[in-house]
Amino acid sequence: MLTATKKKVHNYSAGPCILPQEVFEQAAQAVLDFEGSGLSILEISHRSKPFEAVMAKAQGLVKELLGAPDHYQVVFLGGGASLGFHMVPLNYMKVGGKSAYANTGEWATRAIKESKLIGDTVVVASSEDRNFNYIPKGFEIPADADYFHFTSNNTIFGTQFKQFPNTGSGAGAVPLICDMSSDIFSRPVNVADFALIYGGAQKNMGPAGATVYLFDPERLGHTGRKLSPMLDLKNHGAKESMYNTPPVYAVYVSMLTLEWIKKMGGVAAMETRNAAKAKLLYDAIDRLSPVFKGTTAVEDRSVMNATFVLGDAAQEPAFDALWKEANISGIRGHRSVGGYRASMYNALPIESVQVLVDVMEHFAKKNG
Ligand SMILES: *Cc1c(COP(=O)(O)O)cnc(C)c1O
Repeated sequence: MLTATKKKVHNYSAGPCILPQEVFEQAAQAVLDFEGSGLSILEISHRSKPFEAVMAKAQGLVKELLGAPDHYQVVFLGGGASLGFHMVPLNYMKVGGKSAYANTGEWATRAIKESKLIGDTVVVASSEDRNFNYIPKGFEIPADADYFHFTSNNTIFGTQFKQFPNTGSGAGAVPLICDMSSDIFSRPVNVADFALIYGGAQKNMGPAGATVYLFDPERLGHTGRKLSPMLDLKNHGAKESMYNTPPVYAVYVSMLTLEWIKKMGGVAAMETRNAAKAKLLYDAIDRLSPVFKGTTAVEDRSVMNATFVLGDAAQEPAFDALWKEANISGIRGHRSVGGYRASMYNALPIESVQVLVDVMEHFAKKNG
């Protein structure tokens, strides 16, 4: 017997994270009987007609929702965004060339490490001097870099690029590459500005197990480097994400989430919905100062991951007891930074944010 959970948990997990309830229901149904076929989604061939349709639909929705140019390609691979950190220099840095990076946090740091394994890597901007609590601005990107890489949303420290770096336009532009793992589909972007956008599905698109790559195939294959076909983005694009067995179920559930985003009004509607949630929470953090304190520069605050601390850290056990009692889950900060982090991805309803704000108000009244 299938039973949905009866206990309403307000899930602030940073990833894997909350997905729409109707997606969970459709995904559960497909495990038992995929589209009335008498087969489970888990037991069909990735080369069967029904799965080919799922893949084509998922790829199409990625492009449609983000307004990507027609010739851009979408592939879903395993390995997480972390494998993407390695794929990027392999596929975009020329042999003997160089890459440029902005270092805005833990994930950017890891991406830079991978690039250094492949070749000359310059860090053109960094916010490490203040523990990544702001987004560097006004930096120069060398015109001779093979690409510039940045992380649009800093999931751990809670900062977000509100404006994307400009790497020039036309033939002389430095290819722009973005790890968009934790804010893809949360707001409109101009895909044509990017050579590659990639991200792990498990933050805002689906379950763990698939990584999406959206890219301009014309920008690939110019490095002079021989690649294993499994690490060659051009190959995966040419094979329409079927070079080897793709992460079938993760692609299916991502497709369901993308359908939900479309039904809700697309990424522009997500942006409005996410802005309302973020305002509700950040206003509370500011209003309830000094009991609560935000940890990042106000203008760079992430709409997805709000980080904050208690003015008096000794009060953490009392605060923890309160939010747990309210069925809130997943707001402890990343193990590397402590404090609190409320992740408010697309599927989190504003009602859940109100529950957290009510708990904070209550706590501030008792401890203020
Ligand atoms: C979570 C995260 C990653 C790592 O993703 P994996 O899929 O675990 O490899 C990379 N970048 C950002 C911005 C993230 O939030």
